[in-house]
Amino acid sequence: MPDMSPKKTPMPSQAPDVRNKNFSEVALGYTREMAVGEAKRCLNCKNKPCVAACPVRIDIPAFIERVAHEDFEEAYEVLSRSTSLPAVCGRVCPQESQCEGKCVRGIKGEPVGIGRLERFVADWHRAQKSAPAAKSAPNGHKVAVIGAGPSGLTCAGDLAKMGYAVTIFEALHLPGGVLSYGIPEFRLPKQIVQEAVSYTHLTLPTNREVERSWVAACLKKKTKREYAAKTEQK
Ligand code: SF4
Repeated sequence: MPDMSPKKTPMPSQAPDVRNKNFSEVALGYTREMAVGEAKRCLNCKNKPCVAACPVRIDIPAFIERVAHEDFEEAYEVLSRSTSLPAVCGRVCPQESQCEGKCVRGIKGEPVGIGRLERFVADWHRAQKSAPAAKSAPNGHKVAVIGAGPSGLTCAGDLAKMGYAVTIFEALHLPGGVLSYGIPEFRLPKQIVQEAVSYTHLTLPTNREVERSWVAACLKKKTKREYAAKTEQK
């Protein structure tokens, strides 16, 4: 039987009088007991409205069901199938307007704390100091991604899982884009971002600016070549 309590398990946080004297993360994360208790609030809905509202379509009821059974490794596996950055997304995704905004439990109370559970699973995995997932077998193709912000990292992470040898070119000295340069430490610690990046098996030269004009010229050349090839075929 699911736990029908109408409120989310509260997130432990630094007390106001403590957090006003440091820059550390304010939200401290669920304990194991809190995560399991919160996971038991999920109804495992058949039509999964939370999944349809997730931009990367994480199988939310499946990972939460694993948390409820204290199988955190399998919960991490379910998350990893759809996201390369669960520790980041669990902290900073706007869940209230995405997955949690559509959660059935939100109709008569508070939605399931999906983001908090995602964060818990990712942090649990980091704490085990498990090796990153094995590299996928190479498919013989190389891809260059320009910009190591959230979209570049996600795209590169997905391609790496498919066996592409991915190099991301980043103009600044740290990967992460807005995650490293736009979100303050108390909300998203830099260490979380850098660890998440290190798990993606990517070649990541930083301080390498790629000229926009060069990219535009390459695309133009490629389009011309493709156009010429098509015209010849006719
Ligand atoms: S909508 Fe809410 S209750 Fe239903 S499966 Fe998703 S998280 Fe669980």
